[in-house]
Amino acid sequence: MARRKKQNRITLTTVIILLVILALYQLLDTNDFFSDSGQDTLNVNTQNGFVEVHFIDVGQGDSIYIKTPTQDILIDAGERGDTVVEYLNSQNVEDLELVIGTHPHTDHIGGLINVFEEIPVKEVMDPGIVHTSKTFEEYLALIEEKNMIFTVVRAGTKRTYDDGVVLEILSPANPSEENLNDASIVAKLNYGEISFLFTGDAETTSEKEVLRSGYQIKSNVLKAGHHGSATSTSDDFLKAVSPETVIIMCGTDNSYGHPHKETLEKLEKADIDVYRTDLLGTIIVETNGADYDIKYEKN
Ligand SMILES: [Zn+2]
Repeated sequence: MARRKKQNRITLTTVIILLVILALYQLLDTNDFFSDSGQDTLNVNTQNGFVEVHFIDVGQGDSIYIKTPTQDILIDAGERGDTVVEYLNSQNVEDLELVIGTHPHTDHIGGLINVFEEIPVKEVMDPGIVHTSKTFEEYLALIEEKNMIFTVVRAGTKRTYDDGVVLEILSPANPSEENLNDASIVAKLNYGEISFLFTGDAETTSEKEVLRSGYQIKSNVLKAGHHGSATSTSDDFLKAVSPETVIIMCGTDNSYGHPHKETLEKLEKADIDVYRTDLLGTIIVETNGADYDIKYEKN
């Protein structure tokens, strides 16, 4: 990076250039968290800051907090809303620009009731499928009461943020009430060269639909659909996503037997690194847009 040049006298320009180079080296040094990323990976996104994806341990359920340089986004809040509120407080989250309620099941939106009561939310994305549970009614009532923007999203919606983060909605296209899991909002987040795929509880039907749509779904990190159930992460879908890392969100000794043995065997066979919230607690993936690192709560 710093190429030595033969120069007889030091000009002001040279001094400034040297100072900039020094500052960049110090920046790289302090980020020894990403020590293997190399200097050539320092790109525009790195200078914009880091994106953190926190897979919060909420037992059996999903809750994912995404911190970008400009946005605070939450996907689901499990059933343990108190845990999520406490966690967001510990991360100094004062408000959320966006909340995605992937689908109306309580292990996804149940905890959002506490979140809505405690933390100001600007907008909620929802698949717009009616569910008759009391939890879902309460969730809708709070969205209205607190004047949040309620956006029913469909595949093809794309948000591009000033910090370089791009959020794409890949599903649902035509959701039905027949299988609420397949109505799950599937979202892809891109930051520089690193991408994450969040699948809610999407099962094989939804996965097939995403594959047919022809979206670019290859991602570095995949949140396994439906807590690692064998009804998700179909062979073709896994092949197309081709993740290096899979995160499974489920509770210890849950009654569904998640994650299913078939899924774990499939991931092992494909030589994919698996991180599970039931074994590791909260899992944090941090990226500079060029490389990423994973930390977790329990050893
Ligand atoms: Zn679920």
